[in-house]
Amino acid sequence: MTNAAVMERENAAAAVCPASWERVRMRLKAALGEATFKSWLGSLQYEGIEARQLQFTVPTRFIREWITSHYADDILNFWKIEDPTLISLEIRVRPNTTQRVIPAAQEVSKPAHPSVAVEEPIKAEAVTSAGAKELNDSSWYIGAPLDPRYTFDNFVVGKPNELAHAAARRVADNDKVMQGCNPLFLYGGVGLGKTHLMHSIAWQIRRSNPGRKVIYLSAEKFMYQFIRALRFKDALAFKEQFRSVDVLMIDDVQFISGKDSTQEEFFHTFNALVDQNKQLIISCDRSPSDLEDMEERIRSRLGWGLVADINATTYELRLGILQSKVEKMQGVFVPPKVLEFLAHKISSNVRELEGALNRVVAHSTLVGRAITLENAQEVLHDLLRANDRQITVEDIQKQVASHYNIKVSDMHSARRARTVARPRQVAMYLAKKLTSKSLPEIGRSFGGKDHTTVMHAVKRVEELCKMDNDFAKDVELLTRIFCQTG
Ligand code: ADP
Ligand code: MG
Repeated sequence: MTNAAVMERENAAAAVCPASWERVRMRLKAALGEATFKSWLGSLQYEGIEARQLQFTVPTRFIREWITSHYADDILNFWKIEDPTLISLEIRVRPNTTQRVIPAAQEVSKPAHPSVAVEEPIKAEAVTSAGAKELNDSSWYIGAPLDPRYTFDNFVVGKPNELAHAAARRVADNDKVMQGCNPLFLYGGVGLGKTHLMHSIAWQIRRSNPGRKVIYLSAEKFMYQFIRALRFKDALAFKEQFRSVDVLMIDDVQFISGKDSTQEEFFHTFNALVDQNKQLIISCDRSPSDLEDMEERIRSRLGWGLVADINATTYELRLGILQSKVEKMQGVFVPPKVLEFLAHKISSNVRELEGALNRVVAHSTLVGRAITLENAQEVLHDLLRANDRQITVEDIQKQVASHYNIKVSDMHSARRARTVARPRQVAMYLAKKLTSKSLPEIGRSFGGKDHTTVMHAVKRVEELCKMDNDFAKDVELLTRIFCQTG
């Protein structure tokens, strides 16, 4: 179709557009920005309203998928301002497609920034052969972005993460699937570098072997796509998408535990890929065996390959990370004393540590003053207080044991003599009050006791505090010790 013909057709379409669609378009433009609107919604053609359902057409299936997953709610909600009785929206692919739409979407799908693209090329139906060729290009991806900062170069290795790092490197550096490393299961607490390592693997593979198809996505997104596929009766295409990859990475897999049908689909995808000798990389906030709401067969299969944990950071690692970050900030000088102070004080996780450093640097830039220990303390006083308050069950056990003059090992024992049983109950009570640990977790820290034992201890201590003034004072004193010194 010639340009003139395209314009003519557009004018004709505009002519039949109701004024409300024009207003909705204006709102969408304002909300999404001109460029996004043009790239994705420019080819959206209004077809009418039927049975309270808005109807549109678009030129390709790819655009349909994209609009459906990203903008359908906005479109519907903006149109509800015009007509509150509307309940849904349908987008169909126009049977007669011209080439003109392809460049429009391509602008967005070939980003200058590398962080826009990892997932799967969606095969478009109803495009001309020239268009189909474009679509088979590696540029046709949707989904989870890779963070350009998350590379192996930017990852500081230390004792707590060396195993996970070595495993990640091994998987990334080998073109073939490593026996014994499939799946690679990385686990550790929040903000310790799981996502960073996964993105590093993806970047590395894309660089050294661009022909390998890598998909990175969060388990949440996996579930979302799966549900959407079901809704659009597209489950087969969904399966095909994931089953045609070479390396599949699913981040934060704990998210799908307890969600039965997603779990099931994940399991099938997982098995299909492993059977075809494709590499799988999974991250999780806990070990496979601790995934309580995951089916047993899935749990055990997750642990078949290499399971690598990332432990809580050490002072040395935190300092190393801070130094490496500062090196990359041009023209910024942070005195070693300040870095040591931060590494010492912000021990919760690397994300907070980075955040603290950034705050200190941003503050000094804003007010135009050099960074000193004093102003770092001032800028971070709220954060520091929160980190100070992190009390561990171990701290409590030690303190309570020494207060009552018993051995710390008695905290873990099953001895019922009152001289040890009472202090143990006090420690359980304080653990419940002063930490964020759950009852079962606390029970485990006390030599594998049941959560009902902990619950009983908490109740008992509360009762005793009401009945026995001296005892109450003891407990209060202990509580105060923790709240002062952390
Ligand atoms: P998780 O996925 O485990 O919650 P992330 O991978 O998102 O954690 O890491 C949180 C932040 O800390 C990120 O900005 C990441 O770059 C940084 N980070 C974590 N570990 C390291 C490390 N060893 N070296 C450098 N940066 C790290
Ligand atoms: Mg993460």
